[in-house]
Amino acid sequence: LERTFSIIKPDATKRNLTGAINAKFEAAGLRIVAQKRIHLTKAQAGAFYAVHAERPFYDELCEFMASAPIVAQVLEGEGAIAKNREVMGATNPADADAGTIRAEFAQSVGENSVHGSDAPETAAEEIAYFFSGLELV
Ligand code: ATP
Ligand code: MG
Repeated sequence: LERTFSIIKPDATKRNLTGAINAKFEAAGLRIVAQKRIHLTKAQAGAFYAVHAERPFYDELCEFMASAPIVAQVLEGEGAIAKNREVMGATNPADADAGTIRAEFAQSVGENSVHGSDAPETAAEEIAYFFSGLELV
Protein backbone atom coordinates (compact mmCIF):
# COMPACT_ATOMS: atom_id res chain seq x y z
CA LEU A 1 0.00 0.00 0.00
CA GLU A 2 1.19 3.48 -0.83
CA ARG A 3 1.72 6.25 1.73
CA THR A 4 1.47 9.99 1.29
CA PHE A 5 2.05 13.02 3.46
CA SER A 6 -0.80 15.37 4.32
CA ILE A 7 -1.18 18.62 6.27
CA ILE A 8 -4.39 20.05 7.66
CA LYS A 9 -3.47 23.73 7.37
CA PRO A 10 -3.97 26.57 9.92
CA ASP A 11 -7.17 27.93 8.36
CA ALA A 12 -8.78 24.53 8.94
CA THR A 13 -7.42 23.78 12.44
CA LYS A 14 -8.53 27.26 13.57
CA ARG A 15 -12.08 26.51 12.39
CA ASN A 16 -12.07 23.10 14.17
CA LEU A 17 -12.32 21.15 10.91
CA THR A 18 -9.75 18.41 11.66
CA GLY A 19 -12.40 15.73 12.20
CA ALA A 20 -14.51 16.79 9.21
CA ILE A 21 -11.45 16.64 6.93
CA ASN A 22 -10.31 13.31 8.36
CA ALA A 23 -13.80 11.92 7.68
CA LYS A 24 -13.31 12.81 3.98
CA PHE A 25 -10.00 10.92 3.90
CA GLU A 26 -11.50 7.86 5.55
CA ALA A 27 -14.57 7.91 3.30
CA ALA A 28 -12.20 7.86 0.30
CA GLY A 29 -10.45 4.74 1.62
CA LEU A 30 -7.39 6.50 3.03
CA ARG A 31 -6.19 5.33 6.47
CA ILE A 32 -4.58 7.83 8.87
CA VAL A 33 -1.51 5.88 10.03
CA ALA A 34 0.33 8.76 11.75
CA GLN A 35 -0.87 12.14 12.93
CA LYS A 36 0.33 14.99 15.15
CA ARG A 37 -0.63 18.60 15.84
CA ILE A 38 2.32 20.98 15.75
CA HIS A 39 2.94 24.71 15.46
CA LEU A 40 5.64 25.41 12.85
CA THR A 41 8.01 28.34 13.07
CA LYS A 42 8.18 30.47 9.95
CA ALA A 43 11.65 29.03 9.25
CA GLN A 44 10.33 25.45 9.47
CA ALA A 45 7.45 26.32 7.14
CA GLY A 46 9.96 27.94 4.78
CA ALA A 47 12.12 24.82 4.71
CA PHE A 48 9.11 22.63 4.00
CA TYR A 49 7.98 24.85 1.10
CA ALA A 50 11.55 25.62 -0.13
CA VAL A 51 10.56 24.48 -3.64
CA HIS A 52 8.34 27.60 -3.84
CA ALA A 53 11.04 30.02 -2.58
CA GLU A 54 11.08 32.01 -5.83
CA ARG A 55 7.29 32.31 -6.12
CA PRO A 56 5.68 35.69 -5.32
CA PHE A 57 3.43 34.16 -2.65
CA TYR A 58 6.27 32.40 -0.74
CA ASP A 59 6.52 34.84 2.17
CA GLU A 60 2.74 34.97 2.60
CA LEU A 61 2.61 31.15 2.45
CA CYS A 62 5.27 30.77 5.19
CA GLU A 63 3.54 33.35 7.42
CA PHE A 64 0.24 31.53 6.97
CA MET A 65 1.68 28.06 7.68
CA ALA A 66 3.21 29.39 10.92
CA SER A 67 0.10 31.36 11.97
CA ALA A 68 -1.55 28.55 13.97
CA PRO A 69 -1.10 24.82 14.59
CA ILE A 70 -1.24 22.33 11.74
CA VAL A 71 -1.99 18.62 11.77
CA ALA A 72 0.75 16.64 10.00
CA GLN A 73 -0.35 13.22 8.83
CA VAL A 74 0.60 10.11 6.91
CA LEU A 75 -2.23 8.61 4.86
CA GLU A 76 -2.10 5.05 3.52
CA GLY A 77 -4.10 3.33 0.81
CA GLU A 78 -4.09 2.01 -2.73
CA GLY A 79 -2.76 4.81 -4.93
CA ALA A 80 -2.78 7.07 -1.86
CA ILE A 81 -0.90 9.97 -3.48
CA ALA A 82 -3.30 10.38 -6.41
CA LYS A 83 -6.35 9.52 -4.32
CA ASN A 84 -5.48 12.17 -1.76
CA ARG A 85 -4.95 14.83 -4.48
CA GLU A 86 -8.39 13.87 -5.82
CA VAL A 87 -10.10 14.21 -2.42
CA MET A 88 -8.29 17.54 -1.81
CA GLY A 89 -9.50 19.16 -5.05
CA ALA A 90 -7.81 21.92 -7.06
CA THR A 91 -5.40 24.35 -5.35
CA ASN A 92 -7.83 27.24 -5.90
CA PRO A 93 -11.15 26.35 -4.24
CA ALA A 94 -12.97 28.23 -7.03
CA ASP A 95 -11.74 25.50 -9.41
CA ALA A 96 -12.24 22.54 -7.04
CA ASP A 97 -14.82 19.87 -7.89
CA ALA A 98 -17.94 19.65 -5.71
CA GLY A 99 -17.48 17.36 -2.71
CA THR A 100 -13.72 17.85 -2.47
CA ILE A 101 -12.14 19.17 0.73
CA ARG A 102 -11.08 22.44 -0.85
CA ALA A 103 -14.50 23.01 -2.46
CA GLU A 104 -16.18 22.53 0.92
CA PHE A 105 -13.71 24.11 3.31
CA ALA A 106 -10.98 26.22 1.67
CA GLN A 107 -11.16 29.99 2.02
CA SER A 108 -8.84 31.11 -0.81
CA VAL A 109 -6.04 29.86 -3.07
CA GLY A 110 -3.60 30.47 -0.20
CA GLU A 111 -5.73 29.42 2.77
CA ASN A 112 -6.81 26.18 1.15
CA SER A 113 -7.14 23.86 4.17
CA VAL A 114 -4.90 20.95 3.11
CA HIS A 115 -1.55 19.99 1.61
CA GLY A 116 -0.85 16.68 -0.08
CA SER A 117 2.37 15.29 -1.58
CA ASP A 118 2.45 15.35 -5.38
CA ALA A 119 4.73 12.36 -6.17
CA PRO A 120 6.37 9.31 -4.53
CA GLU A 121 9.71 11.13 -4.06
CA THR A 122 8.14 14.17 -2.39
CA ALA A 123 5.91 11.93 -0.25
CA ALA A 124 8.97 10.08 1.11
CA GLU A 125 10.86 13.34 1.75
CA GLU A 126 7.91 15.07 3.42
CA ILE A 127 7.08 12.08 5.64
CA ALA A 128 10.73 11.96 6.78
CA TYR A 129 10.73 15.73 7.47
CA PHE A 130 7.88 15.42 9.97
CA PHE A 131 7.96 11.86 11.34
CA SER A 132 10.63 9.59 12.80
CA GLY A 133 10.78 5.89 12.03
CA LEU A 134 9.44 5.17 15.53
CA GLU A 135 6.25 7.11 14.77
CA LEU A 136 5.52 5.13 11.62
CA VAL A 137 3.86 1.77 12.20
P1 ATP B 1 0.02 21.91 -1.59
O1 ATP B 1 1.45 21.84 -2.09
O2 ATP B 1 -0.16 22.80 -0.39
O3 ATP B 1 -0.59 20.56 -1.44
P2 ATP B 1 -0.83 22.39 -4.27
O4 ATP B 1 0.14 21.33 -4.65
O5 ATP B 1 -2.26 22.25 -4.72
O6 ATP B 1 -0.87 22.61 -2.72
P3 ATP B 1 1.19 24.32 -4.99
O7 ATP B 1 1.25 24.90 -6.36
O8 ATP B 1 2.18 23.28 -4.60
O9 ATP B 1 -0.30 23.80 -4.77
O10 ATP B 1 1.27 25.54 -3.97
C1 ATP B 1 1.56 25.32 -2.62
C2 ATP B 1 0.68 26.17 -1.76
O11 ATP B 1 1.02 27.54 -1.96
C3 ATP B 1 -0.82 26.12 -2.09
O12 ATP B 1 -1.49 25.03 -1.52
C4 ATP B 1 -1.31 27.42 -1.52
O13 ATP B 1 -1.48 27.34 -0.11
C5 ATP B 1 -0.15 28.36 -1.83
N1 ATP B 1 -0.39 29.05 -3.10
C6 ATP B 1 -0.32 28.52 -4.34
N2 ATP B 1 -0.60 29.45 -5.29
C7 ATP B 1 -0.87 30.60 -4.61
C8 ATP B 1 -1.23 31.92 -5.00
N3 ATP B 1 -1.39 32.25 -6.28
N4 ATP B 1 -1.41 32.84 -4.01
C9 ATP B 1 -1.24 32.52 -2.71
N5 ATP B 1 -0.90 31.29 -2.28
C10 ATP B 1 -0.72 30.33 -3.20
MG1 MG C 1 2.19 21.26 -3.95
